[in-house]
Amino acid sequence: MTRTLTLLGATGSIGASTLDLVRRNRAAWQIEALTAQCSAAQLAALAIEFDARLAVVGDEACLPELRDALAGTGIAAAGGRAALIEAAARPVDMTVAAIVGCAGLAPVMAAVERGGTIALANKEALVSAGEVLMAAVARHGATLLPTDSEHNAIFQCLAGNRIADVARITLTASGGPLRTWSAERLHTATPAEAIAHPNWSMGAKISVDSATMMNKGLEYIEAYHLFPVGLDKLSIVIHPQSVIHSMVEFRDRSTLAQLGPSDMRVPIASCLAWPERMETPLGPLDLAAIGELTFHAPDEERFPATRLAREALAAGGAAPAILNAANEVAVAAFLAGQLRFTHIAALVEETLERSPLGAAPASLEDVLAIDQSARREAQRLLENPALVG
Ligand code: NAD
Ligand code: MG
Repeated sequence: MTRTLTLLGATGSIGASTLDLVRRNRAAWQIEALTAQCSAAQLAALAIEFDARLAVVGDEACLPELRDALAGTGIAAAGGRAALIEAAARPVDMTVAAIVGCAGLAPVMAAVERGGTIALANKEALVSAGEVLMAAVARHGATLLPTDSEHNAIFQCLAGNRIADVARITLTASGGPLRTWSAERLHTATPAEAIAHPNWSMGAKISVDSATMMNKGLEYIEAYHLFPVGLDKLSIVIHPQSVIHSMVEFRDRSTLAQLGPSDMRVPIASCLAWPERMETPLGPLDLAAIGELTFHAPDEERFPATRLAREALAAGGAAPAILNAANEVAVAAFLAGQLRFTHIAALVEETLERSPLGAAPASLEDVLAIDQSARREAQRLLENPALVG
């Protein structure tokens, strides 16, 4: 049976992993829409290869190039924010949400509002709009399948169990490429050093987030919304081998863990085939070759991001959206060589301190307004480096 699929963020790392799986079983899928921010040539090539009905660029300036590349193919081309949302709102059996950042929120919301089944990789959408998004999921009868490897692991461990029986959820974290660096050395970390992840190959933004541990902070907030067990039952452990992707401990002290290769095609496949299973091209897990699995507690002195995320969640209201927006600004500035590695968390903390927490956002528009004003605050701080030094 052929199922229809829309892939938001088709030209990225998650997009490539998703399309690799689809490519191996073309008969199973009809692609409705593929989207990207720009990368018109790459997007057009994918749309042609996968016989998509529609290709959309978020940046309207890239539309003429996309139109040219698709001329005569019969594949529709569109551009701009509204076109992304329209693409996400088209009825399909499965939406893979793999845009990076809060920019993915409105398209995810459009897929939720038509009651779709959404494989959610775009964690920033859930961090910024947690309550609003989860309320919309419930209201519209949408299905969210967690694609982030940790959350997919937890989702698998919870299958057949009751959330009320959960004693603790433990997110594992590799610790990133700078895990063993001293505080002094972290001060000098370059973008190339920060994105050289030992276990995972990912987009630049999430790679920096892994190095600062903000990725785990964002995932902590993501887990809070996906699995309603409460803050006190969520914990983080460093596990450098990235073999155990997360664990759920139940009140009888039985712990279930999900293990697998550190390759996003595994959790993506789990979502695409859910509630069934499908083949992936990965080899079997060879525990004897891996040899040992180690664990230790996070160091929030050197890596304060998880503390900031926990505090933002406890503060509630606009705080998680502010944390996420400031982090997006800070990571972009770090990648552009404008901000020191250790100042990423400092900028996030300072932005949170300077932003009014206000009431909890009640709508998508509220979240987007908070996101915009936090970006402006973070940008002002960037222009005054003494404030984050
Ligand atoms: P990426 O940078 O490789 O790709 C991002 C995709 O989004 C690209 O197709 C890009 O064109 C598109 N995009 C970027 N900005 C956009 C905008 N403003 N509007 C519309 N489209 C835009 O990122 P990635 O590593 O694939 O990550 C995607 C999401 O999945 C992120 O939220 C990330 O945190 C999450 N995630 C990624 C991994 C991974 O292994 N890469 C693992 C877990 C979760
Ligand atoms: Mg993850």
